[in-house]
Amino acid sequence: MNVLVVGGAGYIGSHCVRQLLAAGHRPVVLDNLIFGHRAAVSPEIPFYTSHLGDEEVVGDILTKEKIELVMHFAAFAYVGESVNDPLKYYFNNTVETLHLLKTMVEHGVKKFVFSSTCATFGTPDVLPISEETPQRPINPYGQTKLDIENALKNIAQANGLSFASFRYFNAAGAAEDGSIGEDHEPESHLIPIAISAAQGRIPDLTIFGTDYPTPDGTNLRDYVHVDDLSRAHIAVFDKLEKPGTGLFYNLGTGSPTSVREIINAIEKVSGKRIPVVEGSRRAGDPPALYADSSKAQKELGWKVEYPTIEAIVETAWRWHSRHPEGYPG
Ligand code: UDP
Repeated sequence: MNVLVVGGAGYIGSHCVRQLLAAGHRPVVLDNLIFGHRAAVSPEIPFYTSHLGDEEVVGDILTKEKIELVMHFAAFAYVGESVNDPLKYYFNNTVETLHLLKTMVEHGVKKFVFSSTCATFGTPDVLPISEETPQRPINPYGQTKLDIENALKNIAQANGLSFASFRYFNAAGAAEDGSIGEDHEPESHLIPIAISAAQGRIPDLTIFGTDYPTPDGTNLRDYVHVDDLSRAHIAVFDKLEKPGTGLFYNLGTGSPTSVREIINAIEKVSGKRIPVVEGSRRAGDPPALYADSSKAQKELGWKVEYPTIEAIVETAWRWHSRHPEGYPG
């Protein structure tokens, strides 16, 4: 299938492009390169540098490349920034995506796969988080993703769009061969920061809170390998044949892992010590978030190939060891 991967030069998008190729599909990438890296995408893949909300450019790509399905990974995703500058997030994540969907509808492209987030659930009353858990985002980032999920339901009904929306838990790890991986600027995620501290590139890692009501006092997240996430996006294709289909899946391993367990795993895999500072809680961090992904397992036959945190961290360590400066440029 001819697939337009919007944000295909970003962290999860670039891994998905690889998986699409491996599965025999034809990916075409659209990325504005604000956060994406040209070097994350092989030069043979058609690549367009533009904003996803540019209806003229995107319309031309849909026609010229005979696109049948659009995957959309491009978003701003810094929770704190979304609180301080909500307009930036509503314009980039919500408004731009509506332009993309409008362009698709006008060009008769009827299949869409959307990157959503566990941040749409806010701080849930019950764990693990299933598709039945009420969505009550506690920051503008989560709200912008939920806005699109809601718009998709309406567009599916009115315009016959078929879509799947995946709520990722904590995307982590890198390609098995160490050739592509995580490179954010600025970096705010635990695993790459902890690896930088292990490499001596930064003096230490600050743990955001050691007084949570969890077994070791640090908070619990569900780290899921980026290639496992990518595989779900392709496994859903068969389900999108019927016009108007709308599907939602939570994607995580289901295993809660604490900040201290991440530090231990990186120390074990790398053989290095991570200097740690015990800091205060980060605003807006719930104590525990982990997924019930049984719906994706049952309906898509989705199975994680990286079930342990050591296996995930090993791929991240390989990427960061081989590319200490990240991508060139
Ligand atoms: N965290 C931390 N120190 C850091 C970055 C993150 O202790 O320098 C913690 C954070 O409080 C959270 C977990 O690591 O519990 C994962 O945070 P990350 O930013 O990687 O992902 P998030 O869960 O916010 O999407």
